[in-house]
Amino acid sequence: MLKRPSILVLGAGYGGLTTVVNLQKEFGTDAADITLINKNEYHYESTWLHEAAAGTLLPEQVRYDIADVIDTGKVNFVQATVEGIDVDSKKVSTDNGEFTYDYLVIGLGFEGETFGIVANDPSLYEGTIMKQPPTCNFVKAGMINYTRQLASYYGKRGVRANCISPGGYANNQPQPFVDAYCKRAPLGRLLGHEDIKGAAVFLASDASSYVTGHNLMVDGGWTII
Ligand SMILES: Cc1cc2nc3c(=O)[nH]c(=O)nc-3n(C[C@H](O)[C@H](O)[C@H](O)COP(=O)(O)OP(=O)(O)OC[C@H]3O[C@@H](n4cnc5c(N)ncnc54)[C@H](O)[C@@H]3O)c2cc1C
Repeated sequence: MLKRPSILVLGAGYGGLTTVVNLQKEFGTDAADITLINKNEYHYESTWLHEAAAGTLLPEQVRYDIADVIDTGKVNFVQATVEGIDVDSKKVSTDNGEFTYDYLVIGLGFEGETFGIVANDPSLYEGTIMKQPPTCNFVKAGMINYTRQLASYYGKRGVRANCISPGGYANNQPQPFVDAYCKRAPLGRLLGHEDIKGAAVFLASDASSYVTGHNLMVDGGWTII
């Protein structure tokens, strides 16, 4: 008697879950050993994640339990994080043990890409409760244009108006944020108190007597990346 093939599906996202649902439709109970591995016990609708982030859908509305989708008589679900795949020995290592396979389906997802567009990068806050509230950007952008308005309005009266745009200010933020920020920042660190003083002195002194309506970036190169 032939050995039943063992099919290992990694990831219960769109690809993995579709594969498993189709396999369980195609195969009878004894046709194959099918194992699905996913790090969460739920599937999330990645195309709706922005709705949950914006608060237009509740988190519970964009995800559902994997157990509600799979036929447990045909598919064995294992909650685990995949740590390595050894194709030569047909083994997958996870934080919940090692798995062998005859056929492997890898559906562990995508990597984010910004396509060079400068925009908020929420991954900076991963592993923390920090967020980027929209009001923060609104106020900062408004301040720059307000500075330009002040400069144009008061210039003829001998008043200059400039502003400083600091990068991330070191303020006891959680370590995952600090690590992610420093890894990305061209100068490799957060802004300190001393960093901003020179810029303020320059703008407030005659050394910048012909500078007005300017936004001086003191961001360690953050906005050039
Ligand atoms: C906001 C948003 C909107 C989108 N809109 C569209 C659209 O309109 N049209 C379109 O075609 N595409 C869209 N996409 C892209 C689409 O969601 C992805 O292409 C698709 O989800 C990829 O499917 P996947 O099965 O490869 O991975 P995913 O659906 O990401 O699933 C990966 C699964 O693997 C799990 N996993 C990851 N790493 C591990 C690990 N190490 N161990 C165990 N489990 C792991 C994850 O938890 C997840 O369950 C959108 C994406 C986003 C974020």
